[in-house]
Amino acid sequence: MESNWSKYFSYKHNELSCENVPLSKIAEEIGTPFYVYSKKAILDKIKEYKEAFSDIDTLICYATKANPNLSILKVVKEEGLGADIVSGGELFKARKAGISPKKIVYAGVGKTDFELDYAVREEILAFNVESKEELTVLNEIAGKRKKKARIAIRVNPDVDPKTHPYISTGLKKSKFGIDIDEAIDAYKFAKSLENIEIVGIHCHIGSQIMDVSPYKEAIEKVLNLVEKLKKEGIELSHIDIGGGLGIRYRPEDTPPKPKDLADIIVPLVKNSGLKLVLEPGRSLIGEAGALVSKVLFTKNKKEKHFIIIDTGMNDLMRPSIYNAYHHIIAVKPKEKKVVADIVGPICETGDFLALDREIDDLKRGDLLAIMSAGAYGASMSSNYNVRPRACEVLVDNDTFKVIREREDYNYLIKPEEKALEGEV
Ligand SMILES: *Cc1c(COP(=O)(O)O)cnc(C)c1O
Repeated sequence: MESNWSKYFSYKHNELSCENVPLSKIAEEIGTPFYVYSKKAILDKIKEYKEAFSDIDTLICYATKANPNLSILKVVKEEGLGADIVSGGELFKARKAGISPKKIVYAGVGKTDFELDYAVREEILAFNVESKEELTVLNEIAGKRKKKARIAIRVNPDVDPKTHPYISTGLKKSKFGIDIDEAIDAYKFAKSLENIEIVGIHCHIGSQIMDVSPYKEAIEKVLNLVEKLKKEGIELSHIDIGGGLGIRYRPEDTPPKPKDLADIIVPLVKNSGLKLVLEPGRSLIGEAGALVSKVLFTKNKKEKHFIIIDTGMNDLMRPSIYNAYHHIIAVKPKEKKVVADIVGPICETGDFLALDREIDDLKRGDLLAIMSAGAYGASMSSNYNVRPRACEVLVDNDTFKVIREREDYNYLIKPEEKALEGEV
């Protein structure tokens, strides 16, 4: 008997299931590849966050970029959460899912005029502003609409979250935010602008953080700044500490829990009297999802054994770009194990899901599940090699629902088709 991956993905009758739906049943009905999410896993995680932070006034804004599927956003909305967005497209989706603009915060170093205007019209809770130039432009745009734009300044506390360099965002050399020693000046500037209303302060130090101590360091620095601002007559109503909590990718990983984060943050923030905003992405949805794929071929070369599957870097980019580890398990376990490279069909050597991995001796037609793929999986996928993206499925106990249909070839050519009509 194989050991179970989690409460939500476990073996039932020697077959991997999501909650009470066998993955082979979904594959039979809709084909492969597909992303599958456990609704219960999402709800349980939200509950864990809410309970951990119940001691202070907290708004949880789900980081949409982790997984912007409308049905996922709807689950999040029904639990009363807000959204952290990084583009106009995400704002559109969050609104479509019914999330109130009063619960939307907007981050990003490169917001366009169109996007700023859109969010001004929606009257969102806060623009997390990343530069003085952005303040100037936002002030102008809000003025034209005869509105006030609420802002928090994203400060860069210069702490090392000890994670992958590509997902570290709070270091001095990073493109994000305003250096903490220049923040007072930026706040004073914001205060001088007619169509800007200062409401908070923001920081986000990175992602997949496995040790909560950098949060303590960052928040102490930020709260220190809040005190200085008070002396300058600048009063804030919230502190937004971003997202970043890590998840379990390897069987042996023990990521911090929301409670561990709360234990260090809540006392600090409680003292300040500020309202707390959190922006979890990966930790809300990551472990709730898996990418299910089928073996197309196996290839035994002198140097290596290859398992070639029907999904690749276009569906799940993380192994290729971050060299990220995703645990891979057989849907129907086999006695015999092999060491293999598990690779996709894309014409790139970087198109792998796992290298030199010990795994069941899978053969053509066998199903496998790539675990902890709920965050930054589907959301980062592409049509590279003109491949339709994997469809997405939400499981609720013993039923499942397709929440993103499989793209067909006509959908893929749609934006290019019109040009063929005229003469070139
Ligand atoms: C990406 C991002 C998040 C979410 O990070 P996770 O590691 O997925 O929790 C939160 N806030 C901002 C500003 C982000 O860019």
